[in-house]
Amino acid sequence: MILDHLGIAVQDLEKALAFFRDMLGLHVEATEEVGSQRVRATFLPAGDPKLELLEATAPESAIAKFVERRGPGLHHVAFRVPDIHQALATLRARGVRLIDETPRPGAEGALVAFVHPSASHGVLVELKQPADRVPRFRTPARHTLGDLELVTLSDGFFALDGGAMFGVVPRPLWETRLPPDDRNRIPLGMRPLLVRGDQNVIIDAGCGDKMDAKSAAIYGLERAYHLDHSLAEAGLTAEDIDVVVASHLHFDHVGGFTATAADGRLVPRFPKARYIAHRQEWEDATHPHERNRASYLQENFVPLMEAGVLTLVDDGAEVAPGIRYRRSGGHTMHHQVVTIASGGRTAVFVADMFPTSAHLPAPWVMGYDLYPMDTLAFKRAFTREAIDGEYLIFFEHDPSLAAGVIREKDGKAYVDRVL
Ligand SMILES: [Zn+2]
Ligand SMILES: [Zn+2]
Repeated sequence: MILDHLGIAVQDLEKALAFFRDMLGLHVEATEEVGSQRVRATFLPAGDPKLELLEATAPESAIAKFVERRGPGLHHVAFRVPDIHQALATLRARGVRLIDETPRPGAEGALVAFVHPSASHGVLVELKQPADRVPRFRTPARHTLGDLELVTLSDGFFALDGGAMFGVVPRPLWETRLPPDDRNRIPLGMRPLLVRGDQNVIIDAGCGDKMDAKSAAIYGLERAYHLDHSLAEAGLTAEDIDVVVASHLHFDHVGGFTATAADGRLVPRFPKARYIAHRQEWEDATHPHERNRASYLQENFVPLMEAGVLTLVDDGAEVAPGIRYRRSGGHTMHHQVVTIASGGRTAVFVADMFPTSAHLPAPWVMGYDLYPMDTLAFKRAFTREAIDGEYLIFFEHDPSLAAGVIREKDGKAYVDRVL
C-alpha cells in the first residue's frame, strides 16, 4: 500500500486555499465536484502524496457532518491499492469492519472504499484504486488467415520496470506510450496465440498459476481472468490442444506449460499435447547463469521432458503444418519468432523481439536482452520485410493492442491495428 493522500475537511475551500496555496506555496490541481459524496475536492501535490481539501456541497454530506461535529481538520488517510476488490476481500477475511462493502466512484475516475474508523484506531482509512491509464485487451479475438483461424488469448497481465522494458530509451520518450504506475512498472499482457487448422496449436502459454505470492506482488500479477477462461471463451479446454510451442523458455511465456497436480507433482498442463522447444534454448535454460537464472524456472519445462512429451527442434523447423520457427536471437541467443503462413499470407508471433507495439523503433530494445545488438539487427531487417510482405504481427506483451500490420508513412514505420 502506498500513501496516496491526506483528506482535510474544510469549511470554506477558498479560505483554506489562502493558507495551503498562498502561504505554504503548494501547487493546486483542478477542483472537482464529486456528486456521489456531495463534496468539492481540490488536490495539492506534496511530493508523491497529496493533500485533498474537501468542502461539503450539501448539508447531508459526510464532510458537513464531520465539520459540524468536530470542526474542520484532518478527515482521512488514503492508501492506493492496485486492486480494490482484492484489498476489500482481504480485509473482510481478516475481520476488519468496513464502511463500504463494495467500491464506489471517487474523484479522478478512481474507485474508493472506506474502512470503519472503529477498526483503524479512530483514523478514517480510504482505499483507492486509481483509474486505469492503459486500456487492457483481454477477450479472445479472431482473425482468418487462409485456411487457419488465429485466436489471440489472454493469461492475464503483469508489470515490469518501465526502464528495463525500454533499455537505453529515456523515460520522457516512452512514458506517454505506456504510462508507468507508482512503482515505475508498466502493464504488460500475456497473450498466447491459438492457431486452429487440422490441429489446435498454441504458441506460448503465459506465466500460469505456480508463482508464489511474493513474486506475484513484485510482478503485479493480475490473473483473475486467465488462460482457462480465455480458452473457454474460444470454445476449448486445455484437453483440446494438440501442439504447444515455446518462443523461448522464460517464465512469462512457458509458466503455463506445467501445472501442479492434486498430489503435488508437476505435470503437463495440456494433457494430450506434444510440446516443442528449441534445442539450444533448452540447453541454455537448463544451464542458467546469474544473469538469466531468475527467468529460467526449471519447474516450467523439466517436467515436460520427464513426461516424455517435449520435442527439441532446430532453427527453421516446421512445428505444425504452416507454422515455423525462425531464429531471431537477441533477447536470448536462440529466441524464436514463429511464422504462420496460409493462403499466401503471413502472420508472425514476434514474442520478446517486439514485446509491445511501442517497441517498433529498432533501437527501442529491452534492457533484459542478452544480445541487444543482435536484437537491433533483427528488428531493422525484419521491419523492412514485414512492411513489404504486409505481415500480420502479434504483440504478445502489448496490454492494449493484440495484432497489427506494420506500415510506413513519410519514411516512418507505425503499427496499423487489426486486433
Ligand atoms: Zn523473455
Ligand atoms: Zn516476455
